Order: sequence, then C-alpha cells, then structure tokens
Amino acid sequence: MSGSSPILRLAVPAPLRRLFDYLPPAGVETALLRPGVRLRVPFGKSHRIGVLVALTDRSALEPAALKPALELLDTVPLLPPDLIRLLTWAADYYRHPVGEAFATALPVLLRQGRPLPRRRWLRITREGLSLEAGEPARAPRQRELLQRLREGPEGLPLPAPLRDAGRALVARGWAEETEIPPTAAPPTARHGLPDLEPQQVAALAALREEEGHFGISLLFGVTGSGKTEVYLRRMAEVLEAGHQVLVLVPEIGLTPQLLRRLRRRLGVPMAVLHSGLADGERLRAWSDAASGHARLVVGTRSALFTPLPELGLVILDEEHDPSFKQQEGFRYSARDLALVRARERDVPVILGSATPSMESLHHAFGGRWRLVRLDRRAGGACPPAIRLLDVRGLPLREGLSEPLLTLAERHLEEGGQVLFFLNRRGYAPVLLCHACGWHARCHRCDARLTLHRTEGRLRCHHCGHAQPVPKLCPACGGGDLLSLGAGTERLEAALETRFPGVPRVRIDRDSTRRRESLERALEAIRSGEARLLVGTQMVAKGHHFPDVSLVAVVDADQGLFSADFRGPERMAQTILQVAGRAGRAQRPGEVVIQTHHPEHPLMRLLQAGDYAAFARQALEEREEAGLPPFGHLVLLRAEATREEPAKNFLQRVSGLAREMSIGEVEVLGPVPAPMARRRGRHRFQLLLQAGRRSSLQRMLGALLPRVEQLPEARRVRWSVDVDPQEMF
Ligand code: ADP
Ligand code: ZN
Ligand code: ZN
Repeated sequence: MSGSSPILRLAVPAPLRRLFDYLPPAGVETALLRPGVRLRVPFGKSHRIGVLVALTDRSALEPAALKPALELLDTVPLLPPDLIRLLTWAADYYRHPVGEAFATALPVLLRQGRPLPRRRWLRITREGLSLEAGEPARAPRQRELLQRLREGPEGLPLPAPLRDAGRALVARGWAEETEIPPTAAPPTARHGLPDLEPQQVAALAALREEEGHFGISLLFGVTGSGKTEVYLRRMAEVLEAGHQVLVLVPEIGLTPQLLRRLRRRLGVPMAVLHSGLADGERLRAWSDAASGHARLVVGTRSALFTPLPELGLVILDEEHDPSFKQQEGFRYSARDLALVRARERDVPVILGSATPSMESLHHAFGGRWRLVRLDRRAGGACPPAIRLLDVRGLPLREGLSEPLLTLAERHLEEGGQVLFFLNRRGYAPVLLCHACGWHARCHRCDARLTLHRTEGRLRCHHCGHAQPVPKLCPACGGGDLLSLGAGTERLEAALETRFPGVPRVRIDRDSTRRRESLERALEAIRSGEARLLVGTQMVAKGHHFPDVSLVAVVDADQGLFSADFRGPERMAQTILQVAGRAGRAQRPGEVVIQTHHPEHPLMRLLQAGDYAAFARQALEEREEAGLPPFGHLVLLRAEATREEPAKNFLQRVSGLAREMSIGEVEVLGPVPAPMARRRGRHRFQLLLQAGRRSSLQRMLGALLPRVEQLPEARRVRWSVDVDPQEMF
C-alpha cells in the first residue's frame, strides 16, 4: 500500500503517550498534507481534531487497521516546525500525552476546529500620505481617520474603521485594505528617555554580545536597578532590526502598567496573551503573533507556545517565579522550555530577576550562562536599609509590635506610605473553641479553615470549600469561639483601630477578585491617595510604589521551617522582593522584618540584603544533598478516595523502579504527601532522584509503559512531575 499515499502521524488529544496513525482524507492532495495542519479524525466512536506531526511510510498498525482522516482543516500549517519540535520534545521530556501537549499550545477555538481568522487592515496609501494635514477640509471624519492612519502607518485592524469614514478614503484612493501583515512601525520617540547609567550601558553591551544567535543571559539586578529599562533598549534594537520579541512574565506580573510602558516606549503592534482572555481575544492575539502582525508578544506561561515567524529575542522577567511552572496537566516549565525554544530558533534569551532561582544562578555562577549584573539602584535611589525587629517577649497586637507601629506612625507623619506584608489572606487562620479545643477543619483536606470575617464564612484555601461561621462550637455547644492568628483582613482592621481615618488599601486574592479592583488599588497607591497598604505576595511582584518609605514584613518566620527544600529560597525571594518596594524614588526606604528568630542564619543574610551570598550558601547545601540544580527529581503522585489504592499503586511502581535499578536513580518512598488529604482524596508520592537527568529519563522511558499497564493504575489518579517545583 505504500508508495501512493503516505501515512499521517498525528498528535490527537487523548490521555495516551503516543501519536496516532491515519491515512489521508479522501480526495486531498498529498502536497497539502504538511506538518502543522489540523485534521479531523475518527477516534473511538466519535471524532477528534489532531495536528499532523509527521508523514511516514510505515506504521505499527496493520494496513487494514488504518483509518482515513475525515477532513483537512487548514490549507497552511497552523504550527510551524519549531513549535512542533518543541512540543514533541516537551511531551517526551515531561512524559505527558503528546496530543494533550499540542492541545495546550492551541487556543481553544482552534482546538475546536475553527478556522484561523484572516485579518485585514486599513492602511494609508502614498496618495493619502501626500495630502495636506487639513485635507479633506469638508469631511472631518475622514480627516480624523486619515490623521490616525498617518500616525500609525502599520494600519488599523478592520472592520471597525470601515464603519467610520474608511470606505470613503478607500474610494478616493487615500487608503487601502490589505491582508498582508503591515510592516512594523519603527520604535517611537527616543527623546525624553533617561540616559542609561554606566552599569546599564555595560549590561546592554553584554546582552548585545548574544546578537543573532542562541545564548542565555541572566540579568541579575537588584530591585529598582533598571532591568526593565535595559530590556526596553534591547527590545527596541531587536524590533528595529525587523524581528519579533517574546516577553514572558509571571501570572500577576502582567499589569496594565507594564503594558502601557511597553506600548508607549516601543510603539509596535503588540499581542497580549494571558489566562483572563476570552476565547475570541486569545485567538486574535495568537493569530496576530502567527501572522507576524504583532511584533511584540507579551504573555504568561503558555504564550511560550505562540508561533513567531520572525522571533529574534526571548525575555523572561522575574524568572524565579513559580508560576512559570504549570502545576497540573502538562507540567512544563516555561522557563526551561523558553531555553529550548530559543536554542531551536538560534536566538538569544534573557532571564531577569533580582532574586534568581538557584538553578539559574548555578549556571550563571558556573560560567555556562552569561551573568549580567546590576548592583545599584537606578536614578540615584538608595537601597533600602533592612532591619530585623526581634519581637520575642514583646506584646503583639494582631501580630504587630509597638516599635513597628510607632515607626509606621513616624513614616505617615513624614508623608511616606507604609506597606505591611503578610502572606496570609483572610481574618484568622484558626477558629478554636476555648472550652473544648475543637477547631474548624476542612472535611475534605488536612487543613484548617480560615475565618473570613467580613464575608462571615470559613474557607479552605486548598479546595475552595466554604461554610458559614458557626455561632456555637459544633463539638461541645460552647459559645466561646476564638479566632487565633492574623491574616490580611485582620491586619487591616488593626490598622484601622490604630490609624483611624488614614486611607488604606488591601491587596490580596480576596480584595482583587476582579481585575479592575487590583488596578484601582494599585492606582490608589501610585497616586498617593492610600497611605497604608496591606498585602500578600501579590504586592511583591514588579510593582513600583515610589512613595512607599517603610515596608514591614509582619511575620517572617512562616518560611523558616518549611518542609520543602525550596522553602528558604522562596522566603528569601519574597522578602527581598517586598523589601524592594521600599524607597524606589529619591526617598530612602526602610524595611523592618518582625521575627522570633533574629539569630537564624537566613535572617542574617536577608538583613544584609545580599541575595548572592544567600544563594552561594543555599547552593552549597543543595550540592551536599544532591538536590537541584546538582541533582534532579521526578515526583510521581497518586491520589484516591481511599488511602489503600493510592499507596498500593505507588508501592508497585516503587517495586518496578527498584527492580530496574537504572544507574544512579534513587527511589524514595512512597510516603504520604505533605498534605495527605486534599479535596477528599488521599495523596501519596514517590520521589526519584538522580545526579543526571538522562538517568531519570531512561528510567521513565522504561518504567511508565509498565506503570500504564498496572491494574492498580486504574483505581487511582496518578501523574508524573519532572523537575517538580512544589513538593506537596
Ligand atoms: P527594575 O526592572 O530593575 O526594577 P526599572 O527599569 O523599572 O527597574 O527602573 C526602576 C526605576 O528607575 C524606574 O522608575 C525607572 O524609570 C528608573 N530608571 C531606570 N533607569 C534609569 C536611568 N538610567 N536614569 C534614571 N532613572 C532610571
Ligand atoms: Zn467546644
Ligand atoms: Zn479543603
């Protein structure tokens, strides 16, 4: 049967770790069957949409068992070869069903078979450009539209301008409709830009060394050192050279403030991709990137999978942020895959952070990546002075000590803003019966319920369960229920008591459920209207609060005794990032960290504000323990409504893995997960650890096909997490 029609190898969304073979659909020319096109194929009793990955002339299936695809959906490939390779590689590396990995990369509407929208633009013609500014004198609407086209020669997306005066302009030959992606406008105005400081000039020059080829740079610059300014210059250069730029940011780093800054400074058509987009918006942004119309693509994690025909530079800001790793389903690291993609495309990639991950620092310190440092703050701003406030034995009111409150008062009097950082939302983390010791727990998780007082509910922060606050103790009927500990809601109430009438805002997931409310809160801070700020780690990410003169870390001890080996790293990152909000303008900032452990070595390093010193020490410890980046991990998780099946399954897996005894792979567990029950399911985990990734990959390659066959596998939900970021 070979010779005439090839066999199509497709990525079809299904929970199987392999590709699927089909025959071409009837009556379709072979030339149209190029990798990257979508096809509708019969699948089980129904049909699905898959992406053509490769053409081949042999299949493991009997020729008679091969079914023809039903329909070809694209005339041109939707996914370019580099993305096909990236996704294939990633599915293999992360051991995720390849069809689902491809599906992750596509906007929902394309996954459902919608055609790629063809965009048309209205753009000014040579005749239009030669008109005087006041023309046409008697048609103000046309004149206005013409003016807009003159200012943005890259064109306006149709059809909106046609409803206006566009038709008339087209009729008169002053404008034309075009389907070709308009060429980018050159980056706008250079005047009014700050002169780069010497360290920024040096950084920019260092980054330019990786011009036009693959190379990884780590831009390690203290908060406020002008990293963004350096990215902007680099981006402008790459855009001007005619390339597209991809910028990846953490989930909540994608603020309107950042987008405004990019739009204003770079003035090129931009596509923005984040999880909050409606399906249609996402499709439009995606196709603008794919067509080359958008020159700048900014987005969170999954924007990495956008086709970019003219990619010239990848930037990943706040590269240490855990949100770059997807925690469920296709558990990929956008940071690591960004490097793979950049290598595939032979373009430079810049990772930036004030507090880089241990993985990145290890490569940069070791000379494998280019280390670019910015050690001082830009624009003459001073670094914040960090002070530990020993609260042992001090009376605490809602977690606040008197010395801290007195200091806050002074800053307010002097016209500063004060930021209180507490990484715990809600009113109180514990509701306890004083009579019998009962406390409110989630019935589905091994976790306490958090009291949300204004809302009048107890909430589980792990599964979302919510219930009314009981008036009486459910165990003994007593009426003396105490709320212990403080979250942001309670902190805010305490500040109201202490500083009545001082305008304040709270920023946490509860207060900012809607996008606009976060924007409004940030604006109240920027405008100076709010004087007191209370926030969780949401405030620690990339915002500029130039008038914040005091940052108070209310409870620094939470992170000291974490079960996760990344606990200290995360804590150092969060505290230094929050501290970095202080004194970004000319006003020197002060940072106070309340702690019961002022002697703790980590606290001392934080006080010195020396992240590099912290990192060197943390890296030494990791090396001794064989932990990342010196060793590598794979976490197998299993959960079930009862404990037995989850545990038994992982015991079988562990047995198989030990039998294989591949090289140096250590098999640890199974053990109950740190949170042993969640959403009503019992959870266990098995850890594989090895000095080399290749050993782990070899083990997984041999192990998983057998695990999939285990009868026990059918009784549990299980998953593989390669390079896990969270160990729970
Ligand atoms: P980062 O990204 O490192 O936090 P930014 O680039 O956002 O730093 O810069 C921090 C602040 O310093 C911003 O307000 C920015 O406008 C200002 N800034 C950056 N570079 C300069 C410079 N060369 N001269 C004056 N101000 C600068
Ligand atoms: Zn009780
Ligand atoms: Zn729960």
